[in-house]
Amino acid sequence: MILALGTALDFLPWACGSPSSSLAESGEAYTIPSWLPRYELDIALDLTQLCVHVRQRTTFHNRHRRVAHELVFNAYPRYRAEGKELSLLAKTLELLRTAYREALDSQGQRLTVHQVWLGEQRLDFHWHPDLPTALVIPLPSPVSQGESVTVILDYTLQLPQLQGRWGHYQGVTMLTNWYPVLAYYDENGWQPTPFIPWHQPFFQEAGVYHVRITLPDNQRIASTGRILEEKPLGNGYKQSTIFCPAARDFCLVCSHRFQEYSAVTDGIRVRVLAFPEHQHLAKKAIQYACEAIAIYNRWFGPYPYDEFDIVESYFPWNGNESAGLIQIDHRVFSIPEFAERYLDHLVSHETLHQWWYNVVGTNGYAETWMDEGVVSYFTAKRMAQKYGPNFTLLNLPGWLNGWAPNVRYNDYRLSGYYGTLARGEQTPIVQPLPGYGHVVTLFSMTYDGGGKILGMIENRLGELAFFDLFRSIYRRYYFRILRVADFQRELETYTGQSWQQFFDDWLYQVGISDWAIEHVRVTWETDQGLSIPILCPQLLRQFPGTGGRKYQVEITVRQKGNRTEPTTIGITLPSKESHEYRIPLRPDASHYDLSDPPGLVEPIGPNRYRIVLELEDIPQQISVDPEQIIPDANPANNTWPTPIRWRFTPLYTNLDETDLTVPYDSWAVTFGPWAGLTDPAFGQQPYMGLRLGIYRLQEVRGGVFLAYDPNDQDFRVGADAIWDHFPLPRTQIGAQYSRSLSPDWSNFQKDRAKVFGRYIFSYTPSLYMNPMEFIEVYGRMENEFTGRGPVRRAGIERYDNLAAWGVMYYRDFRTPYWDPDAGYRFYAYYENGQPILGGDETYHRIFAEGSYIWRFPDGYGYLSQTRLAFRLAGGAGWPGNGQHFQLGGSLRLRGLGRSDREGSALWLASIEWRFPIYRDWQLSIADNTARITHVYGAVFYDVGAVYLNERIVEGVAHSIGAGLRLDIAWLSFIERTTFRFDVARLVGEESPLFLWFGFQHAF
Ligand SMILES: [Zn+2]
Repeated sequence: MILALGTALDFLPWACGSPSSSLAESGEAYTIPSWLPRYELDIALDLTQLCVHVRQRTTFHNRHRRVAHELVFNAYPRYRAEGKELSLLAKTLELLRTAYREALDSQGQRLTVHQVWLGEQRLDFHWHPDLPTALVIPLPSPVSQGESVTVILDYTLQLPQLQGRWGHYQGVTMLTNWYPVLAYYDENGWQPTPFIPWHQPFFQEAGVYHVRITLPDNQRIASTGRILEEKPLGNGYKQSTIFCPAARDFCLVCSHRFQEYSAVTDGIRVRVLAFPEHQHLAKKAIQYACEAIAIYNRWFGPYPYDEFDIVESYFPWNGNESAGLIQIDHRVFSIPEFAERYLDHLVSHETLHQWWYNVVGTNGYAETWMDEGVVSYFTAKRMAQKYGPNFTLLNLPGWLNGWAPNVRYNDYRLSGYYGTLARGEQTPIVQPLPGYGHVVTLFSMTYDGGGKILGMIENRLGELAFFDLFRSIYRRYYFRILRVADFQRELETYTGQSWQQFFDDWLYQVGISDWAIEHVRVTWETDQGLSIPILCPQLLRQFPGTGGRKYQVEITVRQKGNRTEPTTIGITLPSKESHEYRIPLRPDASHYDLSDPPGLVEPIGPNRYRIVLELEDIPQQISVDPEQIIPDANPANNTWPTPIRWRFTPLYTNLDETDLTVPYDSWAVTFGPWAGLTDPAFGQQPYMGLRLGIYRLQEVRGGVFLAYDPNDQDFRVGADAIWDHFPLPRTQIGAQYSRSLSPDWSNFQKDRAKVFGRYIFSYTPSLYMNPMEFIEVYGRMENEFTGRGPVRRAGIERYDNLAAWGVMYYRDFRTPYWDPDAGYRFYAYYENGQPILGGDETYHRIFAEGSYIWRFPDGYGYLSQTRLAFRLAGGAGWPGNGQHFQLGGSLRLRGLGRSDREGSALWLASIEWRFPIYRDWQLSIADNTARITHVYGAVFYDVGAVYLNERIVEGVAHSIGAGLRLDIAWLSFIERTTFRFDVARLVGEESPLFLWFGFQHAF
């Protein structure tokens, strides 16, 4: 199937012009509209100056009654991010595990239009005053219906050395949504869309594209359309001629680094251009695309061209669709082999945009759902067809499979959605992009939640009719635009009924359902006419001989959401392997009888229904909405008995307690030998031992443990729990208690407890950090039980037995969080100790720390890649004879040990210069399970002092040191961390050399 580069291939004759009846199936015409705008681009790519010079001829046909007095183009590279947009974009990139300096163009406005011509006449032009990316060209004479006008634009696009839509990065030139393209025009006039850098705000008619590009002859091109001719120009340059009869946009990616691989499916040549080191996955990508294209051809209608390109590029969003071409980020091409099903998912998704985005266009600015919802839904269908329902995304090697945590497809698809719901950030599914606020809510609402809406439509229509509808839409909107209103109209015509309520409920308003099984009662009806209630039906069911009797099962279900959608109840009986009864639940009906099994359904109050059934066995499982078709706020309450995933693992780590590795629709209980870190709310302490944990997505996580605490060299038994979004969507409460078991093994035996309540202003995109901004009220105690604890000095308080409450404010706006380039962190707390709960001290303590990262400005060569970090900290405690603070340690003055100098007040200042030693090392460990991306060095100076009884302890301490930082990417793009190694010693004093190791920077 896979053919190597250079293998001769047969091409289909190029389907050119319109109508292209050669593409038709069974007599149906797929007609390219004759009124599409025409674009002729003459491009000169200059890789020494990093720019493209373009002469663009654009022909606009007015097919509307409204007379056009001007032309309006979307010229997205005129965009410049400013103010809040800059930080939003930096945060978006951080979420995508990309440092903003690699992809954020703070300069912007890369496009300069030099001249505009109409024939020999030079035209004025201006940038729209309210929309700086909209190029307005007033026309000397108006263009009426049926008339055309052709203008010529001369412009230059500078290519920033950045990842993203347009730029040049590490030898790859990316030209995506980069040229002035006519805005959408109809009876309402021109409708240019603003550029929203975190998604696809594109709303434009397809066009006919003739392109001629001059570029260095070592460049390999992936592009929209097909290269008709490539001729050398001598002087190291070549000229390529490209044509496409109809395309939503024109995209071109080229590089001297590309290798080409190709194969043919359904007469379509699929090419992949990727770096040679990614050959393995590049070939996989071809295979996935070939399979997907054949399926989509069958599902919707023919792919419109005889060529399809997949190209490796630098695109932090992982994948992007253009006409006839998709881009896959270099990091996806370097995922571990065991994660290649993710590549399949991504290629299947982006490829499907050829049908729903390229051929059938949408309003990407105001109606993202119309292509992303559709593509997400059908991609999931294809993936489930290939790998089975809810398959595991990681194809782990045999020795890991079965016990290592895996990611199930539905958990991957829906965990983000449930996060959005839990945070109370649900929005309408159809609305202009800015309404979502950021990309997380957008993904949750339009891709994940939006996909579910299509599932509901399919459920109402049935699979055959549903596909039939989509096939007819594909044919009729061929290289046209499908608005949500058009889709609704098509649906109404097809079904002969109104869908207004449905669209209002689920797309234009914030709709959510929450079906729940409230109660199940099982009664045994004996032959003697007795009714014996069964108290533990699930237990009794385990005994043989319970089948074949007569049971009355009474089920109470309730709908707690704001939308009540008809659904079904599925009942599985143990005696009838794989047989399920399906009972329709019709909320609008008053009372109805059932025949198979015999029974009835009746409403018993607002949104509450009783179902009474006669069954020959005790049900094994009862589910409302068993296929989980309806968007449901809490899918774990849809099933009786409460669904629990039990799991034993020989190695229980933090990976077992993430949203991706637990089922989104049930409880998870995990048990096993444990090596992990506690939640950051409990100090991220390492533990090793045994743990039994429970996890319910976005609700609660906790466990009991018996473990060794290496920090205190102590065996402990304890429990912890965190309730998320409780009692409010943005609050969190937690508790931890642990008891020391080993007084003989160490000097002291300590019990510890903490309870806290938080209000979270900003959540973190990271999987392992504290929220970005929160305020916390806490209570804690530490009780030490020992007669021979650490040495005590007369008149000095050590606070070994304490009970305290405190309040903390925390704000970490450094970005990117794993290796900040900019931003600041500030936190402060007040704590009050009281002689209660075993504590024997009264004290007050305040502490604050602020740090700031400053990057050298551009233009200073190597220096510009380096950063300075500053930190100031100070604290004071009362009474003044207490050891409230430690000056030394890994996170403070690094030339002193943790308990070398302690006191009641402290100040500390640090400066650290962080500089690259080896950038872009990209050293793969275990097939990119971990990857050392960059290596940095650091030199630092810490200075500070502590005071006791208002006297300085051993003078001001000066410490200097140096460090090494490894920037590690996990599973290519899943997470990033920085490993830190520091050595430091005091200056001007006798002192040992301290060696520190830690995660993340010290400040
Ligand atoms: Zn998409």
